[in-house]
Amino acid sequence: MNLRLGIVGWRGMVGSVLVQRMQAEKDFLQFSSSFFSTSQAGEALPESLTKMLGAASFAPTLKDACNLSALGEMDIILCTQGGIYTSEIQPKLRKAGWQGFWVDAASTLRLESFSTLTMDPVNLALIEADLLLGKKDFIGANCTTAILVMGLSGLFKKSLVHWVSFASYQSVSGSGAKAIESLLQQTKAVSDVASALPAGYSALQSTQSLSHFLQNKEQKRISDEALHPSALSVGPIGFNVLPWIDSDIGNGWSREELKTQQETNKILGIKKDKAIPIEGTCVRVPTLRCHALSCLVYLKENLSAGQCQAILQAAHPWINIVENTKETTLAELTPAMFSGSLQIGIGRIRKSRLGGKLDEKYLNLFIIGDQLLWGAAEPLRRMLPILIKHLSTSPAALTNKNNAKNIA
Ligand code: NAP
Repeated sequence: MNLRLGIVGWRGMVGSVLVQRMQAEKDFLQFSSSFFSTSQAGEALPESLTKMLGAASFAPTLKDACNLSALGEMDIILCTQGGIYTSEIQPKLRKAGWQGFWVDAASTLRLESFSTLTMDPVNLALIEADLLLGKKDFIGANCTTAILVMGLSGLFKKSLVHWVSFASYQSVSGSGAKAIESLLQQTKAVSDVASALPAGYSALQSTQSLSHFLQNKEQKRISDEALHPSALSVGPIGFNVLPWIDSDIGNGWSREELKTQQETNKILGIKKDKAIPIEGTCVRVPTLRCHALSCLVYLKENLSAGQCQAILQAAHPWINIVENTKETTLAELTPAMFSGSLQIGIGRIRKSRLGGKLDEKYLNLFIIGDQLLWGAAEPLRRMLPILIKHLSTSPAALTNKNNAKNIA
């Protein structure tokens, strides 16, 4: 089967990681690939990309990501371009009768009834059932949600979770490539002020001067300049922590915080009236890559920390339990250590002392995962072999061989 794969958003943070992973897993050899761009259509594929593609079949020039006809020729579109693009393009393609598979990282379609959230180590059966139902839109979950679900998967699979309360520590790359540029510019602005402080300043004097700089208007101006308009959601993150991510939904909650409960339950195939309550405060921190969550889980059964650890470990091959000691935690359970890894780190596993006594139903733990991998690119990439397998047994699922003719 010669499947035509379109990739939109390959230049961004998620797209770059996706392409790297596809190269590592030799996915490109299975497809005839076309790369689309909103800003560089008609240009030759960059050498960095053609080197990665090696012997695979691909179109040598970048196609226009807004050309519905060119997109309509694809059997599968992998999209990591962003929500504005998805909102604009996917409905037009569907309206024009395109029958291909749309696999996307953006939040736009996640809660639509026609879409499936893809996280196959946790919900492969649901994905396969939805494919048999004829569903065509497979969407990656929110990055924090994905790390939480991958981490707590063992407890979810055994229906042991009554509710989860969490605080997140979300890295700057979670907000895209321009946000990383902003973090580096802001860090440099503060470092420049630090290096101009008088020699002999004590740690306290330095802290006071830099705090003043961070609070005053000059910092705000530098901060605003450093932030590219499309990365404004990041805010003044250099040497700072921002306890608000995504839009304000008007009732004291951020949109990011709402996603966790809605999407976790959708991944797990749990209906709204039986939804597991999941509540937390989502916080941006000035780390480069990897999201972390400090979780309090209220279990349905009395289980020791050791029993919980064994259940968590057994969930899937990517769990990495970190021993709950000071030395091991500080050495291993950090964003820096998990950056670029497919492992999901779980540590600080211990029972809660809330109420002044040990209660076997309350479990504390700390989860870390690379949000560009399991939190974004990897579940999308893993849809490719799942789709190939599905199409080998249900080739009629692709009835779009003549799509391009219908899409003007
Ligand atoms: P991004 O880095 O901002 O990239 C998106 C697009 O921006 C690129 O494809 C590129 O499109 C354009 N772009 C403009 N200037 C760029 C530059 N200097 N460097 C790279 N690209 C630039 O966004 P992203 O973080 O990959 O996110 C893509 C989608 O995935 C979003 O919907 C996001 O919500 C979702 N998502 C992200 C994460 C995460 O951890 N970042 C996690 C889960 C889901 P052209 O080449 O067409 O110009």
